[in-house]
Amino acid sequence: MEAADSVEQPGHSKVGTLSISARAEIEGNLRRVHDQFLGNREGKVADYIPELAKVPPDQFGLAIALTTGEVIAVGDVDSRFTIQSTSKALTLALLLDTVGHQETLRVVGTQPSGDPFNAITLDPSTNRPFNPMVNAGAIAVSGRLLEALGPSAFDQILEHFSRAAGRELTVDENVFESERVTGHRNRAIGHLLRAAGVFDLPVDDVLDVYFRQCSILVTVTDLAVMGATLANIGVNPATRRAVFGVDAVRDTISIMFTCGMYDGAGDWACKVGVPAKSGVGGGIMAVLNRQLGIGVFSPRLDIAGNSVRGKLVCRSLADELGLHTFDWTNMGSSFLKALGVG
Ligand code: GLU
Repeated sequence: MEAADSVEQPGHSKVGTLSISARAEIEGNLRRVHDQFLGNREGKVADYIPELAKVPPDQFGLAIALTTGEVIAVGDVDSRFTIQSTSKALTLALLLDTVGHQETLRVVGTQPSGDPFNAITLDPSTNRPFNPMVNAGAIAVSGRLLEALGPSAFDQILEHFSRAAGRELTVDENVFESERVTGHRNRAIGHLLRAAGVFDLPVDDVLDVYFRQCSILVTVTDLAVMGATLANIGVNPATRRAVFGVDAVRDTISIMFTCGMYDGAGDWACKVGVPAKSGVGGGIMAVLNRQLGIGVFSPRLDIAGNSVRGKLVCRSLADELGLHTFDWTNMGSSFLKALGVG
């Protein structure tokens, strides 16, 4: 089912009236985990381009957006950072809506790869990228979007990201330019994809879309609301605008669960148990189906490319609030009900 332009879809949550005490309780949880990990200086800021190496490493913010429309954020809530690989989840959803499930699967698979995210490789059994969360898969998605939408592809991506966040987003032109100038590895992947017949477009045109989508600026609140939009079956819970269709959302969240956290995806699935996508800008967007989205920003990364404090915060929140999908208490699935708003 495709996302309608601005109508509501069945089954998503109503804008809620979170009680003052429930709000204070969530804010208390966020503050506690924020303060718990504030002193953590482990990891290293991404430095593959000078623009990212310049990012102040101590920034730290986190936000929860409920599918009732409420947002609660603590820490560096106004810091803007580039969305980077977190964009891959959202362009996947857009492609699924644009060309459908079958055609999307023609250009990209759904299997975890076991290779680094930027590996210049395809699945030998299909001659397609393993999944849309590694660079090869995301570039295939951008290429198919460019084929389907033509020159307005990036504008439509930005428009959908903006709708998912509930505000007009912009591109960090310096990061874009840096990615473009230094992106030889991604260009190699682009040529591999073209040689394999995944798309038949000039590689630089496809990479232009890919680098631009990675360079979109967001805040933790944006990531949380984008996550809540996915959790709310594709409808932004604050603006009530439809962004993605229900089938696209289901596929997207499923692939986030198995492939969203680089080489740490299996560990994340066990320890946190909430579908998520990270980016080397230091952001993580997590989705608790039908309940909420989480956004975290802390630029120091672990060896796999995931935010160190972001991982710790998500694990702690998942433990504290019982959010793990397979937690024996199953509290995550009735989180809103427990707050009296579901
Ligand atoms: N623009 C980055 C690249 O393609 C994204 C990396 C990431 O966040 O994983 O290399």
